[in-house]
Formats: sequence, structure tokens, C-alpha cells
Amino acid sequence: MKKKKAKYIFVVGGVMSGVGKGVATSAIGRVLQSRGMSVTAIKVDPYINVDAGTMNPSEHGEVFVLGDGDETDQDMGNYERFLDIQLTRLNYMTTGRVYQSVIARERNLEYEGKCVQVVPHIPEEIISRIKGASRSAEADVTVVEIGGTVGEYENILFLEAARMMKQKNPDDVLFVLVSYVPIPSKVGEMKTKPTQHASRTLNSTGVQADIIVARSEAPLDKVRKEKIASFCSVDKKAVISAPDVESIYHVPVNFEQDGLSDILLKKLGLRAKKRDFGPWLTFTKKVENAKKPVKIGVVGKYFNTGDYVLSDAYISVIEAIKHASYATGCKPEIDWLDSEIYEKTPQKRRELRQYDGIVVPGGFGSRGIEGKIAVAEYCRKNKIPYFGLCYGMQIAVVEYARNVLGYEDAHTVEMKHAPKHPIIDVMPEQRDKIQKNKMGGTMRLGDYEAKIARGTLAYSAYKQPYIVERHRHRYEVNPAYVEALEEAGLIFSGKSPDGTLAEIMELPVAEHPFYLATQFHPEFLSRPLSPHPLFMSFLRVIAKRNKR
Ligand code: GLN
Repeated sequence: MKKKKAKYIFVVGGVMSGVGKGVATSAIGRVLQSRGMSVTAIKVDPYINVDAGTMNPSEHGEVFVLGDGDETDQDMGNYERFLDIQLTRLNYMTTGRVYQSVIARERNLEYEGKCVQVVPHIPEEIISRIKGASRSAEADVTVVEIGGTVGEYENILFLEAARMMKQKNPDDVLFVLVSYVPIPSKVGEMKTKPTQHASRTLNSTGVQADIIVARSEAPLDKVRKEKIASFCSVDKKAVISAPDVESIYHVPVNFEQDGLSDILLKKLGLRAKKRDFGPWLTFTKKVENAKKPVKIGVVGKYFNTGDYVLSDAYISVIEAIKHASYATGCKPEIDWLDSEIYEKTPQKRRELRQYDGIVVPGGFGSRGIEGKIAVAEYCRKNKIPYFGLCYGMQIAVVEYARNVLGYEDAHTVEMKHAPKHPIIDVMPEQRDKIQKNKMGGTMRLGDYEAKIARGTLAYSAYKQPYIVERHRHRYEVNPAYVEALEEAGLIFSGKSPDGTLAEIMELPVAEHPFYLATQFHPEFLSRPLSPHPLFMSFLRVIAKRNKR
């Protein structure tokens, strides 16, 4: 059988960031899947960091952890959720990562005495990575999202790599420009000029867009479509209207209204099956029909940027809540609660009563930690459903040790001082890394197995004795305290298979409707079509109790 040629779609951004290029990339993949294509996705991040793990989430958004432990960009989460696939470190690259390999190769004399240059050696490395990911996934089509917007210095070498690929195989490579079309309120009219500029800036790198996805508040009318087509040199049909939608999961369906997959397939010379969105449409119907209001508070500290509140740092948590909500017929209203408030103003804790459930997600460092501990205590005592994720488990165990066991000085050693009761301790293999400041990519990362105890809340959710979940932490429940905590009533319902590490804690259901926390990050495995079992249990309890 003749081997199929691998096809590539590069997605680049114009005008400004934050218009949903990651979602557009994911949706492009999804519409191709609906035509029977096998698809994989790559994220290119132009910064120097080797991975996203060393960046502050307030600045860069969530760090999405892959099964193989790679600490990546939040867009990788979108790809996994939309395409329902598992990605690996081959699917993610940064400038730092690319240079690191080229320099390592140079040190090993692998360039055989040549002068190693930015061009062509860097683009060649990029191309080899893109092709490697496509090969390894055996994908018909590989969608590559280039971070940033056109015209930035940072992503120029990635665009150059893409241009080189197009020049070599013009029939196998496509460019999609995701641009923004503003409707300035004072003007009241949709303006295409910024998109025209973006298209010309792209041209200046030697690349011509084949398709333009026009993000805007409203659908594009015929006049604007024609204008964009004519000024940006694309077919009229290849200008895709991408108005704001109620849910990101409607984007693929919307794209298809403009016939996107037909255009992509035709331009790539691919023959495909008839469109079949399958269960995706059942899911979007569920989103539309979810009516029962539930109010969930997410207590964190990575929300504020200047005067604005951004939820990007917790995107997988939010999506996981949404998936389980829609599956249980609930319409979630999610509030961002700044943990520091509960530290500074204890009376504010009473306001937690208005929530049907509280989630304390992952976090690092000391800011706001006492506020989180206070929230865990309040939820425990007032029977408010509580779901802790990673740090949210560690602080819940500290709270229990302090207030139930009476260990006043219980704490996590992540805080600077040495507490009398180091309830959360540093993992032995981490100690040396912390001392030597070897912080990048060195946490306990990615997939680990856990054993679930029968007869627990966790077991009733998972319905199986062994599970695999994704981790990202340096600290853990100190095994020396497990017995005392268990005797005091805490249940460690999930442990590492050798029994040494505590992976899930919970309170007996007879005492609390839902008080459960995990050392791992279940949110990374929740998918629209298969919500995570623990989020499902959390939402089921909430839906049942809520009498709104
Ligand atoms: N800071 C904690 C640790 O490193 C928790 C990490 C997290 O919440 N992801 O163990």
C-alpha cells in the first residue's frame, strides 16, 4: 500500500493575542477528525524557557502536565480535550528546547566541523521536531500552532521553518491566520484593517495565508468577508467567520457552518469521509440544555494581573468543572476567590456558605496559604463540599492535623521555617534538587499509579482498584504522620501501589457529604466526552444537595 503523505497546517496569530488561537487550532483538528482524519497537534512557544514549568502562572497561565511529565502550555490541554488524544513531549517545543538540542549536538561534533548557524540549523531542528511528532503519532494531519502574533521577533525562526516546509512540499502545507476583527464601540462597524495589516506582516516573512479565521464579537457579514478576501489574497470561501460563542466547544460546529473542513481537505488534496461529529453534538446539546444553576468557588491566588482578573492559571480545573456540570445537567457559575482575603478578614469566611462547592487547586509558596487552610477548615466544619487538588490536599491535611489532632504547629516544610510537625514533608529525592536549585522539570511529574481502597468515596467514583493520574509536586504527606491522621479519622483512600505515598484523602461520607482531595491533578484528564470520575462525584453530590 502506498504510504500516505503527512500533511501540515500551521496556525499563526494576527493583531493580538488572547483571541482564541489555541481553541481555533483545537477546533481545526476536531473538524478534520469529524471527516475521519487522524490528527495530532503541536504547540510552539517562542520563549527561551525550556518548558512552562518555571513560569509564574499569573504571567503565563496554567502549566499543563502531560502523561510523560512534560510541563507545557495550557493550549496543550485544549488539544487533548478537543481531540481526545494523549500528547507527549514531542508535541511541544520552545525556543529554549530547540537551541538546547542544537547546542548539545554541536558539542558532540555532530555538525562535523561546520559553522553552526541560526539559519538554517535552527529551522532545520524545528522541522525535524515537527516531522518527528507527526511520524510518531502516525497522523494524517498535524496542526502546528505558532505562539505569539506575526511581526514579533520571537517567532520569526518558527515561521521560517514553516515557510521552508511549504516551499519544499507546497501541496502538503497550509497556513491559517487567526486574526481579530474589532467592532469599536464608538464606530459601531466591523473594521478589517488590522487583519489586512496582519496578513501583510505575514507576507513579509514569505508566507501567504491560505485561510483566515476572523475572530470577532459578531459573525462576519458578506461585505467584510469580501474585503478580507480581496485585500489579504485569500479565496472568499476561505474567510471563516468565528464570532464569540457561549461555549468554546461550539467552535468546531460553527467552523463547519462555514465549510472549514471541506476547504482544508481540498487545499491539502485529501479525500475524506462524510462529516460525522458523533458524540460531540450530543455533548454540545448537553451544554445548551444544562440548566440547574450551581455555584462553585475556586480559591486561589493567581488571578490578578493589574486591574484585571484572569482565570487562565486554572483553565483545566474550570474545564473539568464544566464537563462534569454539563454531564449532570448543571450550569456552573464559577467565582474566583482570593485566598488572601480569608487570611486578612476572617469574617469573610462566612461568605463561603453561598457556594455549593469549593475547589482549592494547586499552588506554590506561602502567599495566601493560611487563607486556604481557613477555607478547608470552614468547609470541613460546615459540610460544604470540598475538593482539593495537590496543594489543596496538602493544606487540608495540615488543617486536620492542626484542628483535629491538635498539632498547633503543623505545617508544610515548603514554608521557610521548620515546623514542629512537618505534616507535609519534602520528598527525599527532592531535597538535593532544592538545595542545588535544580528546579526546572525536576518535580514528581506525570503519570503515576495509585491503589484505591474499597468502600471509599474515591472507589465509588473510580469503580476500580488501580488508577493512573498526572502529578506535579515536590512535597507530600509525611508518612510518619499517616497512622496518627488515620486514627484521628482521616481516610487515605488512594496510596502509591507500594503503600508509601498518600495520593487521596477523604472524610467518611457519614461525616461530610464530600470532602476529598488528591495529591495529583485529576483536572488534566477530564475530557468533554468523558468527564473525570472525581469531578463527576463532586458535581453529583452538589446537584443532589442543591435546592436552588
Ligand atoms: N507546592 C506543592 C508541592 O510542590 C503543591 C504543588 C501543586 O499544587 N501543584 O508539593
